[in-house]
Amino acid sequence: METMTAQQAIEKLEKYKTAAEFAENIYDTELHNACISALNKQLPKAPRKTTIFEGTQAEKLAAKGLPNYETYKCPVCSRIVADRSFITGIKISNFCENCGQALETEITKE
Ligand SMILES: [Zn+2]
Repeated sequence: METMTAQQAIEKLEKYKTAAEFAENIYDTELHNACISALNKQLPKAPRKTTIFEGTQAEKLAAKGLPNYETYKCPVCSRIVADRSFITGIKISNFCENCGQALETEITKE
């Protein structure tokens, strides 16, 4: 038997939850949510394209005429997940080292 993928496990869990709710069975929603959340971390998400400083910090920098560099952040916890090198360009980590979210490493060219 092949190993179930995270996506398949999520779909199966959601079916169990729906079936349990339909039958009005006791179902551990807290456990369900913990499992879904852990499984979702294994599914690579696109990093968020932004700048190092955001919001009011970015406005303050701009007001002083200081540079604010483009970067990529974790879509879950906003930790910077990009390494910038003059030789290789921007490189995205496979996982966020802060929250463990799997990340898409391919940057779509704009
Ligand atoms: Zn993160």
